[in-house]
Amino acid sequence: MTEPLDEEEYERPRLGSAGPVRVRVPAKINLHLHVGPVRGDGFHELVTVYHAISLYDELSARRGDRLTLTMEGEGAGELPLDDDNLVLRAARALARYTQRQPLARLHLRKQIPIAAGLAGGSADAAAALVACDALWGTNLGRDELAKLAASIGSDVPFLVLGGTALGTGRGERVSPVLASGHSWHWVVAVANGGLSTPTVYRELDHLRDYGAAPPSAGSPERLLAALRQHDPAVLAAALGNDLQPAALSLRPELRHTLDAGHAAGALAGIVSGSGPTCVFLAADARHAESLAKELVDRGACRSAQPAYGPVAGARVV
Ligand code: ATP
Repeated sequence: MTEPLDEEEYERPRLGSAGPVRVRVPAKINLHLHVGPVRGDGFHELVTVYHAISLYDELSARRGDRLTLTMEGEGAGELPLDDDNLVLRAARALARYTQRQPLARLHLRKQIPIAAGLAGGSADAAAALVACDALWGTNLGRDELAKLAASIGSDVPFLVLGGTALGTGRGERVSPVLASGHSWHWVVAVANGGLSTPTVYRELDHLRDYGAAPPSAGSPERLLAALRQHDPAVLAAALGNDLQPAALSLRPELRHTLDAGHAAGALAGIVSGSGPTCVFLAADARHAESLAKELVDRGACRSAQPAYGPVAGARVV
């Protein structure tokens, strides 16, 4: 079940494409998320270990005489399709950077739930960069795309790269964690409704001000060592997310989801990023299948599905 992080897949048409170009982009979870102090620019200093999983959005790009976006799936009818959408912001950013007109017809098929702590919006921005780069034949290298991605959002560079990676700064400085070819198996338990990321950070600040936050996840060394051992029980003990208490404080019912996962035999359960999605670590693919089914049967979440990681970032398919 390992999806190779094949460099070949990054090959893009050299002279642009008549389209359609189809790009698949994964969701992310954070295996480790240490939230440091608030910086002068209002962002928190982070140390995180990102992990791309096999839950995907797909963006197609065709030539057009204007820049337009249509969509289907998660969030359709709810998400704006104007310049507030990160897809259009990313397309315009690439056009500005490469000094060309942003002309494309874009269509988004969305499976990643919105405001879920899975960085779906950032994933779509990464997909737009990769799709328009191929459609327009601008041929920026992966590193240059990742640099441009940082100007769009903190998680966007990681979603250009994918795999498992260490993120620092506000998350935008990304360095890959050596891939070993090992796959980890997860269950993604999606909640009803979303959580606003800034609200969750504010709640954490509030809990810390009142001495009500547990000790921080701290350094990622233990998690990085666990990844090298290929033993899910070892990884289970090393997962950590400083935002989890804040997400639970805002959405206490998530405790029921986490408890249900433990009762169903998950090796570990954790809130994904700022939540409210919870992810559970399974021993293998079959275990993930049965866990997902049991979480649904227990009514512990809106939906639950197995996923594996690490997988590649935004790629032309
Ligand atoms: P974060 O990356 O902060 O963890 P998240 O995963 O919790 O975010 P997203 O799905 O990325 O949440 O969406 C955050 C907000 O971004 C949404 O509430 C939405 O208003 C806005 N947004 C803009 N474009 C998109 C998009 N293409 N998909 C999802 N959200 C978008």
